[in-house]
Amino acid sequence: MRKVTAFVLAASFACAAYAQQPQRPPFQTTKVEGTDNVYIFRNGGHQAMFIVTSEGVIATDPIAYGRPTGGALYIEEIRKVTDKPIKYLIYSHHHYDHVAGGKAFKDAGATIISHKRAKERLAALGDPNTPLPDQTFEKSRTLKLGGTVLELSYHGLNHSDSTIVMRLPKEKIVFIVDTIPVGAFPGRGFIDVYPLETEQFMERVLKMDWERLIPGHPGQPGDRLGTKKDVEDQLALIRYASDEVKKWARDGKCWEPAEKEVKLEKYETWPGYQSGLPLVVRRYCGLWGRGT
Ligand SMILES: [Zn+2]
Repeated sequence: MRKVTAFVLAASFACAAYAQQPQRPPFQTTKVEGTDNVYIFRNGGHQAMFIVTSEGVIATDPIAYGRPTGGALYIEEIRKVTDKPIKYLIYSHHHYDHVAGGKAFKDAGATIISHKRAKERLAALGDPNTPLPDQTFEKSRTLKLGGTVLELSYHGLNHSDSTIVMRLPKEKIVFIVDTIPVGAFPGRGFIDVYPLETEQFMERVLKMDWERLIPGHPGQPGDRLGTKKDVEDQLALIRYASDEVKKWARDGKCWEPAEKEVKLEKYETWPGYQSGLPLVVRRYCGLWGRGT
């Protein structure tokens, strides 16, 4: 990715998450290498894709949970690239760490689109920082704007019941949030995942035509994009975790002692292993030990 803008971390910025990476700016906009108009906006540990066309901008995920000015900042970053109107804002799913902050986009005139279930979830929760989608779809919707085609599609339960795949067919890029970590052990996003359906989701994603995956959290190492190999690796990881915990569960060892003793050693060098392991084991204990 070519760096378009980079903002130096203010000396007063003291977020513990960046303690090990002092050079990394708190937010950043980068153009995806090899594309004319596809960008990634990263804010902290979250990222979103936006596409600039001759007729306007398609933005995704405001990523402004806990960041009251995050939506406006994202728009400022878009404004450094283009003065075209922001026509659409697409929600990847209904989780606030990705979709809070949409008001700035709504005020700028964007039409907000999500899966139908995301709107139902958000309506029930009523967060003031997260405007409800204006339009929804169930299976798929294709947006065409200024020569860019963006396909939105739903492939069943996965990380949530509203997570969609966004695909740019010409660029062979997909933007998939939370369900498929790139180069990292699953973390907090796994706590309420639909485990068996997620395997089917990953199989469906592998059958789609694309070459690069933009994740909702920067890929490891080096904020890289993902490939189909990363999806295969993640699918192998969750199948292995599932099979291992199933043995413990069938022996009556969930939640304890499985939660204390299952190790999945072959993944211990993966980023996020230490913090993610208890969450993954808990979820599979829930599945195989309780049927939930
Ligand atoms: Zn999520």
